[in-house]
This record gives sequence, C-alpha cells and structure tokens, in this order.
Amino acid sequence: MKNLITKIFGTKHERDVKKLMPVVAEINEHFEKLASLSEEQLKAKTEEFKKRLAEGETVDDLMTEAFAVVKEVCRRLVGQTWDVVGLPSTWNMVPFDVQLIGGVALHEGKIAEMATGEGKTLVATLPTYLNALTGKGVHIVTVNDYLARRDREWMGKIYEYLGLTVGVIQNQMDNAARREMYKTDITFGTANEFGFDYLRDNMAQRAEDRVHRNYHYAIIDEVDSILVDEARTPLIISGLVEETTVHDRYREMRPMVETLVRKQTVLINDMVSKAEKLLEGGKSDDEFETGTLLLAAQRGAPKNKRLLKLMKETGVKRLVTDVESSYMRDKKLHEIDDHLYYFIDEREHTIALTDLGNSQFSKEEQKLFEIPDLSTMLSELEGDTSLTPEERQKKADQYYSLHAERSEKVHAINQLLRAYSLYEKDVEYVLQEGKVMIVDEFTGRILPGRRYSDGLHQAIEAKEGVQIEAETQTLATITLQNYFRMYEKLAGMTGTAETEAAEFWEIYKLDVAVIPTNVPCVREDLEDQIYRTRREKYNAIIEEITEKNKAGQPVLVGTVSVEVSETLARMLKRMGVPHHVLNAKQHQHEAEIVANAGQRGAVTIATNMAGRGTDIKLGPGVVDLGGLHIVGTERHESRRIDRQLRGRSGRQGDPGSSIFFLSLEDDLMRLFGGERLGGIMDRLGVKEGEVITHAMVTRAIERAQKKVEAQNFAIRKHTLEYDDVMNVQRKWIYERRLAALERESIKDEVVELIESVLDSLIEQYCPEKEYPENWNMGSFTEELRKIYLLNLQTKPEDIPKLTRESLKETVLKAVTTYYNQKEAAYGEPIMRQLERYAVLSTIDRHWRDHLAEMDELRTGIGLRAYHGGMGKPIDLYKREAFGIFETMINTIDKEIINLVYKLQVNIPEPTRSERRRQPSMVATHADSTGMGLTAPSPVMDPTGSQPANPMAAASQAGNQTTQTIRRTMPKVGRNDPCPCGSGKKYKKCHGAGE
Ligand code: ADP
Ligand code: MG
Repeated sequence: MKNLITKIFGTKHERDVKKLMPVVAEINEHFEKLASLSEEQLKAKTEEFKKRLAEGETVDDLMTEAFAVVKEVCRRLVGQTWDVVGLPSTWNMVPFDVQLIGGVALHEGKIAEMATGEGKTLVATLPTYLNALTGKGVHIVTVNDYLARRDREWMGKIYEYLGLTVGVIQNQMDNAARREMYKTDITFGTANEFGFDYLRDNMAQRAEDRVHRNYHYAIIDEVDSILVDEARTPLIISGLVEETTVHDRYREMRPMVETLVRKQTVLINDMVSKAEKLLEGGKSDDEFETGTLLLAAQRGAPKNKRLLKLMKETGVKRLVTDVESSYMRDKKLHEIDDHLYYFIDEREHTIALTDLGNSQFSKEEQKLFEIPDLSTMLSELEGDTSLTPEERQKKADQYYSLHAERSEKVHAINQLLRAYSLYEKDVEYVLQEGKVMIVDEFTGRILPGRRYSDGLHQAIEAKEGVQIEAETQTLATITLQNYFRMYEKLAGMTGTAETEAAEFWEIYKLDVAVIPTNVPCVREDLEDQIYRTRREKYNAIIEEITEKNKAGQPVLVGTVSVEVSETLARMLKRMGVPHHVLNAKQHQHEAEIVANAGQRGAVTIATNMAGRGTDIKLGPGVVDLGGLHIVGTERHESRRIDRQLRGRSGRQGDPGSSIFFLSLEDDLMRLFGGERLGGIMDRLGVKEGEVITHAMVTRAIERAQKKVEAQNFAIRKHTLEYDDVMNVQRKWIYERRLAALERESIKDEVVELIESVLDSLIEQYCPEKEYPENWNMGSFTEELRKIYLLNLQTKPEDIPKLTRESLKETVLKAVTTYYNQKEAAYGEPIMRQLERYAVLSTIDRHWRDHLAEMDELRTGIGLRAYHGGMGKPIDLYKREAFGIFETMINTIDKEIINLVYKLQVNIPEPTRSERRRQPSMVATHADSTGMGLTAPSPVMDPTGSQPANPMAAASQAGNQTTQTIRRTMPKVGRNDPCPCGSGKKYKKCHGAGE
C-alpha cells in the first residue's frame, strides 16, 4: 500500500526536489548570461551583491544569481592547476544540477543528504559564497584538521577569485593566528577547534585574547558524525587538580581489587563448569538451575571466554534470557548477585561490590569505605545544643570531608573493577611507551593525550602497573549541541542522515533533504553471511578477500576495532595477500592510502572512519572487474555507520558491491539480539561451520541496531537535557564575564553591587519584622568587617533606636567614602583594572567549583531518584541546580566587593600568574568507546559511582601567549554617557576637565 502511494506521488523528498527545478532553471539562466562577462566584471559581482544587501535586499533575493556566479567561476577555473595539501591538483568541476539543489538545501539551513562521491565539498561553496557576502563570517566544519586544510586549499580558489578572504584553523595554531583566521569571510576548521575556541574565549583574561568573532552560519560536513556520534559527550577544558593523593588511592587499592577479581574468576569458572555438566545431563528439571548459574556468571564476568563459548550452544542464550526475565519479573536479581563478589550490568552500565565482596576485606578496611549517612549526621548535629555554633560548624566540616573521602574510595574501587572487567588491552586501549592510550571506537585510531575521565584512566593505569597520571578538574564545558545552537543558521551535509532525521529535527530543528544522485547508483548490496563463531567468520572473510584479490578486484575491508584490523592483517599475511592497514600507526598517510583503495588488486583494511572524506576513484580496468568490493566484518551498533561503509563503493554511477560477515559472538549480537538469533538459528537447524543468510536474521539484526540507536539517542538527549540547565547558567555567567572583559569601565556595576550586597545583608540580619533589639548585629558587623573592611561600632543602648533606613544610610555612606578614597588614591585606571580583576577571578573560581558541584548533583540525583521514586530526576536536578546557582551568584557578588575593597595595588600580578597557569590546560572531548557500554549514563547508576565517561584530550589549549601589550582604551566620545555609570554625559561628568 505504502509502496503504491509513493509510486504514484513519489516520496516527500522527490516532491521537494521537483519543486526546486524552476530554481535550478533560474540559476542556469543567470549562468548562461555570465559567460560573456570579462574577468573584471565577474569579479565585480561580489561588490555589487554586497551593495544590494546594504540597500535592503536579502541573501534569499540574491541566491540564484550568486549561485550562478559561483558556477561560472568554477567553469573558468577548469584546467587550472594548484597545490592542495602539497599535491598539484587540476580543477575539473562545474556544479551539476543536483549539486545546485544541494546548495539550496544548505542555504535554507537543512541537512543535504548526498551520497559519497557526489561532490559535497563543491556543493558547500554555493551557500558559503552567498552567506559570506553579509560579512558576518561563515564557518565550514570538517571532521579533521587534514580535511579542513584540504578543503580550504581546494575550494579557497573560488572565494579568492571573487574577492573574499579565507582562513583555516589548525590544532597547533596560537591565539593570534586563530584570531586572524576568524576575521576572514570563510573559516574552515573542526567542530572541536570551533567549540574549544568558544570555551577558551570565555576563560580569557584580556578582551584581546578572544578569537571568535561571530556565530552566524555554519555548514557541517559529515554532519552525522559530528552532531550524532561526537555529540554523545561534551567538550571539556580541564586543568590539573592540586591534590596528588589520588594516585596513591588507585595504587593502594589495586591489590585488594585484584584479589577480588581473581576470586570472582574462580567462582565464575566453577559456575560455568557446573552449568556445563548440567547441560550434558540434559535433564529438563535442571534447566532453571543451569540458567541461573549462567546468568550469575554473566553478571559476574560478562567477558569470560568459557562463558561466551557456552552461550553459543543451541538454546543456551535463550535459556539465560528466560531465567533473567523471570528474576527481573520477581524483582529478585539481587539474589543472583548475592552469590558474587561484585556484579556488572552491561545494559544498565552498573558495577558494584556486593556484601560478599565487601566481607572479603578486613573489618578495618571495610570501615574505610563505609560511606557515612551525611543527612542524618547533619540533622543530629543541628539538634545538638551542647555545642557552640562554631563547634558545630567545625564538626559539620569534618563530616563533609569524611563523606567525600569515603565516597572517593568507593568510587576508586568501582573504577578499578570496571577497568578489570570491561576494559581490555588492545581493544579499548593500548599500552604504548608506558602510557595507556584510548583507541577511538569510530576511527580505530589511537588518541594520543586523551584520557578517560572520572578516575577510570587512573584505574587502568593502576591495573597495568604504569605511572598513574594526575586527575584534572573541569574548567569549562559545553555540549556540541549547545555550541552549534548558537549559530543564527546551521546546515549540514552527509551521505547518511535519513535514519537519524528525527533526532536532527528534535534537537537542532534541522530538516533532512535527500538529494538524488547525479548518476543512478548501481552498487549491489549483498545479503549478510552469518556464522556461529568469530573464528569461522574470519576464515570466511579471508577466503572472500583472497578470491576477489586473485581476480584483481579491489577490496575495502571495514572493521570496528584496531584489534580486528590486525587479526585480519595477520591472516592475510599468512596467505601472502598484500594489503594496507589503516589505523593509528599510519594515520598521516591514511588519506593517500584510501585514495588508492580503488586501484586494481588493492586490499585495504580500514577502521570505521579512517580516511573518511577522501574520494575512492576506480583504477583502470577495475570497472570491468565489478568495481570496488566492500567487506564489512561486523555490524556497527548504528545502521548509519554500516551505510557509510557501503557508500564508499559505487560513487558517481561506478559499479561496486558490498557484503557483511557476522557472527553470533559479535558484541552487538551478544548484547541485544543474541537470544533471538540463537533461537532462529536453532529453529533453522544451523550446524557448526555453516553459514546462513536469511532475511529473518537480517531483520533481527536490524531490530537490535534500532534498539541500540534508540538507547544512544536517549543518552544524547539525556546529556543535552542536563546541559540545557547548565546552558542557561553558562550564558548568564559568560555574559557577565564578557561585560567585565570588554567594557572600559564596570564602575557602575561595582557601585550597584556595593549597595545591593549591603541590602541583602540587612535583609538577612536585620529583618523588617523583628525589633532592632532582636537583630543579629554581631553577625552583621562581622560581615561588614569581612566584606567592606568596615568597622561598625554601635553602642548597645543605641540599637533600639536604629531603623533599617538609617542603618543602611550610615553604612553606605561609610563604604562609599572608603571606595572613593581608594579610587582617588590609586587613580581611576588602576581602580578600573582592579575591579575587572575582581570580577573575572571571582567568577572563574566559583564557576569552576560550580561545574564540579553540578556534576556531583547530577550523580546524586540519579541515585536518589533511583532509590526514592522522587519524580523525574531531571526535574529534581533543575530545582536544585537553580538553588545552587542562586547561592553562588550571591557569594560571587559578596566576594567581588570584598576583593575591590581588599586588593592592594600590585593586582596585575595575580592576573599574570593566572595566565601562566593556562598552558597546563587540556581541551578534551570525551569519546564514546565500545558498544554503548561506556557511553556516559548520567543517572541510573545505583552504585553511586559516577558514570564511566571516557574522555579524551583533543587539542592542547592553543598556546596562550603572554603578551604584555596593553590595548589602548577606546576613547569615550564627549557626548557619550559617562562610563562611570552616572547617567550624565561624559563631558559633564568625568570628562569635564578634558
Ligand atoms: P563527497 O564529499 O560528496 O563524498 P567529494 O566532495 O569528496 O565528495 O567529491 C568527490 C569527487 O567527485 C571529487 O574528487 C570530484 O573530483 C568529483 N566531483 C564532484 N563534483 C563534480 C563535478 N561537478 N564535476 C566533476 N567532478 C566532480
Ligand atoms: Mg566529503
């Protein structure tokens, strides 16, 4: 039925494209007319367009003409040769009609889905030129530094021909270079660089250190990998935490955890043996017991090799699932866990010590990680009248630090357990030169300098016995989602967006437009080949490659990890098949290697994204051999990534084929589709060594993928929901900070604060509804002394006569006088600097702590909601976050004033040391590693440990140079309002003498 309708009316996308045909005709009409223009006349179009924009026309009005101009420039460049990333390249592209349509979609702020090899790089030039005419800057976002440079050098010619300026941001650039790049009309760079620059701008100590100019229009290339894959975790800039005892904690606990892991292994092996025996017996009465044993084994060591082997036997997986469901229904899973030392729930991302595990420690040790019940202790303390308030405060502080210390210990144990049970060397990470290095799930590349967050990296370092490196503290963070939402207009392009269209719409309000290919795609996507074991699967893959290779047909093998790449490479070597492997060790050449993957006889093994963005052209004679053959070695958790792999073949109407080899031991199957598949295979009577290809199995796999996709979407949405709360606060803080940084004077703000802080003190200590006798004059006086350095003396007999008004007046007069005297003594310029420093340093310090506090709150909320059924965690979080933020603002206000009063004149010093500290910062973008297991799960972690949030250093904080050049203050016009905030004109106020 559905098919019939689309047959008659076409899909929505086809109809949308049809609607654009008149626009394409219009562009081409303009284009025809441009041929007769001289070079000068063509170049003059830019000025003409700019003028028309200034006179009130819009970019929409200019679209068809501007696109035609770009097309004409392309035509004129044909045959010209220039260097692109060091290689001479001859221009041969004039946009096809489908490319014009893609350009329109991008201009309209949509995602253009265009297959690989359709020439998206060129498509982007059309809307880029048009939107850059506004002078507000266009950012073109690429997936890596290499592609940013390539596209800048490749496409830059068009813009420069038309008189626009072009820049590219590279990871190692310093601030000054970056700022120049952002000043250009069109700036290329990676999402991480753009995002980190935003964060660093908001940590700048001087206005002139900021690099961004505008967030006007961004076109994101490979938009799905950036807005979906990378968006699972936020960008983080962190600095070292002073305390160094963390190292010791992991080292100290390692032996205990190791003992526990060993004990658990013995236990699990025993369980598995018992289950094996029962299975051999084959009595149906024993089934439940067998299932229970295996379920326990699974919860105790999900990656145990013998267990995994057993699970592959006919019906076993189904049995375990049934038993699990029955325990879950009765809410009795804990009965299973009681037999273990610790348990792991892969789906829930939890890991925790059980009572049995706990009892393995000595009584003393157990005490060390017993987390005290803070709220009860504090409320008891509250009621303890035998203590003075000071003593109570001291006690409370002790409780807090005890609680923190114990929580950290438990956290360390959990992270160590995680490191031992879920993180395997050479899969999730590798050891190189005594360092634990993360392997990127998507690219399979080693990520130098990146670290898992939250102590997990330290735990792995402890496990491997290498040097444990210092833990860092978050200084600034933002999700990519909230970064890109700042742009006035956003657009994206990719070969694979459709499966995630709902998410693009929901999160970014981005529509997906599917653009037809220039030439129909004839690639043949073959049916999946499914085996029981990995070993059988690998053998079949090698056979496939060898066979194609004998005929000379090029093969591109896609893998999900470096380990698989290397296994296959070893096997191919034994067979004497020459091949290239793309992984961390060769990534500088990977673009060149991939470019040659279409040559006769080429065998290329590449992890998911290695070499993405590079065009694979077919070599001579390869068309007759059937084109490029793609071999997938495992299903990825997202269908989109599989489509990407297939899409590398069959570009621009080339012949080609793709096929996936799968096994029941693959992670995806194991976790999400296993029981169902095992059942299907049993029913079909598949025996060891046999391959099956069956639509039912393929559908089951797709269902499993959809399940994981939905789960990952939920995780991203979740991360975003929490970041949204933070986003409001971040904007508020950054705006206030920016004002302090950029305004010549913030005297008005300070003067206002002097009064409002006083008001709040009066409100707090001298409430209106109380008689003056009952006011807390002691604390009030104490606060005045602390904040304003004011020594207020009130004779006891005078107190009853006080009014709030008179009190305020007296104090305000005194503190204002002091302020004015200080200003007069130091001079205005220094006073202004001092105020600026007071605001910046106070905001930065508190914001840093706030970030940590919000993190804790989030984990805590998850816990409480999990146990207490206190409504949706996010609502709870919002409420509490608001309270914490409000308190912080109050404290900030007080501290700013206090600094203004307290600081002595040598204040530039701290500013400088502050700046010196910055090179030790690392910009990190956490990456999701593994089968969704390690993706951050901000709540629902009943162990109380924070979620494994694998994180990674993407770029060094761009060399913050410590220049001593002072910006000359912009001059205030005589008729402008006076910067002191008096409201008077400058000439009548501070400018009177000039
Ligand atoms: P995509 O990013 O869509 O995968 P690219 O931008 O890398 O594709 O371009 C793929 C190849 O297609 C390029 O090498 C380019 O030579 C070719 N190409 C793109 N557009 C045209 C065109 N209009 N005419 C001729 N060749 C083109
Ligand atoms: Mg591309």
